[in-house]
Amino acid sequence: MEHGFVALVGAGPGDKGLITIRGAELLSQADVVVYDRLVSQEIIKMIPTTAEKIDVGKENKFHPVKQEEINHILLEKSLEGKKVIRLKGGDPFVFGRGGEELELLYENNIPFEVVPGVTSAVAALCYGGIPATHRDFCSSLHIITGHAREGGQLSIPFHELKELNGTIVFLMGVSSLSYLMNGLINAGMEKDMPAAIVENGTRPNQRKLVATVGTLEQKALEMEIKSPAIIAVGKVCSLSEKFSWFMKKPLFGTKILVTRPKESSGTLVEKLRQLGAEPVEYPCIEVVPIPQNEKLYHACENIREYGWILLTSKNGIQIFFDYLNSKGLDARVLANTKIGTVGSQTAKALKEVGLISDFTPEIFDGRHLALGIAERVGENEKVLICDAAIASDDIVNILRSNNIKFDRVPLYNTNYINENSNKVKKSIVHGELKYITFTSASTVEGFIASMKDIPLESLTAVCIGNKTAEAAKKYNLRYVVAEKSTIDSMIDKLLEIGGGNIYD
Ligand code: SAH
Repeated sequence: MEHGFVALVGAGPGDKGLITIRGAELLSQADVVVYDRLVSQEIIKMIPTTAEKIDVGKENKFHPVKQEEINHILLEKSLEGKKVIRLKGGDPFVFGRGGEELELLYENNIPFEVVPGVTSAVAALCYGGIPATHRDFCSSLHIITGHAREGGQLSIPFHELKELNGTIVFLMGVSSLSYLMNGLINAGMEKDMPAAIVENGTRPNQRKLVATVGTLEQKALEMEIKSPAIIAVGKVCSLSEKFSWFMKKPLFGTKILVTRPKESSGTLVEKLRQLGAEPVEYPCIEVVPIPQNEKLYHACENIREYGWILLTSKNGIQIFFDYLNSKGLDARVLANTKIGTVGSQTAKALKEVGLISDFTPEIFDGRHLALGIAERVGENEKVLICDAAIASDDIVNILRSNNIKFDRVPLYNTNYINENSNKVKKSIVHGELKYITFTSASTVEGFIASMKDIPLESLTAVCIGNKTAEAAKKYNLRYVVAEKSTIDSMIDKLLEIGGGNIYD
């Protein structure tokens, strides 16, 4: 059988923006991905769903999968002819055992490629506001392991290091912090030399400690610093407050629950992340097209009867056009029909299928859509409403009271789902989650259905619009409502109530 191929890819320190373009490209083509503990969840989520995922996560002093075994997994999978991506935290060759993993592949003539990664040694410093070097302070950078080989002993040339006067970065050093700091002090380093620790660097749960060589150990104990963390020693650490940028992002450290269905949560999640928040994806609903939709079939057969068609969600648009396509039809069947969309996002989704909305209300809800249509519909023009099975009767009632003829075709059912609800419940009970975003009344219903018996007083719901807020109110949730019914407006609201609220 034809040989596969192995790529050793540096995943970077955590922030998914720090994987290289080449790394992401290879990852998207993977048949098998072998990854370990240091690879962040954000990056793991980038693995294609079709790829086999093998977690060989390593804990300190505890190796669930031995190095030799990992080497063999890479060999075996590539001999099966697969594209194997070995994802490693940071850079694969910086204390990453990358070399060891290539040996066996080399011996067996397996083609391989190595993609460098952004090493935590530099990136965690950077996200901690510490420049690795600075002309006023130092002229060298030393990256040193604080962890001895199994059975071996650490022997760090502290005297030489001290003499070099550069920035020293220790990886894998949390458990030997005392040895490292005392080693430097015994070698003559001044006790007040600035030193710092960045834990979980580049991630939303990053923590930073700035102290001196003399006080770092005690403060790290007080803060209960844990691995993964880098330890930095040198005058550059004194710049950390001034140059801090990541932890000063307005929503830094704020966990926010996002309840939208998976396929549509992307924009909100990404925007929250850019603001430093830690979005926790917890889709509470899923949208399922109505199978053998007779009503839709009839409506499409007679589409020319309708002067207007109203579309009330992105999901609806997708389902409607997928349906047309499945019948060998396309947007041309709507050539003589005007289209009304409920909001800017729906109008945008329509544009993606090549059509321009004829009407979108200023206020993005069904009521205002119907009121606008009532003003625009021609005499004897019939309206086709395509919406969710659980949609409210707002549109129907307004058209009816205006004596407008219409047909209503539900396109999809909304199911409540609760994957990972235990984890979310725990975060709520422990007070880690303060905000929850709702982009429809159905997400509120789905969330409530999955949270029986959990006290929700500590949460504030950020609702996209009034309908959603009504649902939140019904369940006594504390809530705020976005001024305009858009994701951006929800974010503005969050910034207003949560901005600057670092960890308090
Ligand atoms: N190849 C990796 C390093 C592997 S050694 C790299 O280039 O980054 C593992 C050590 O890296 C950890 O003990 C810790 O010291 C450091 N490390 C990895 N990711 C980190 C992160 N996100 N924040 C702080 N330190 C990290």
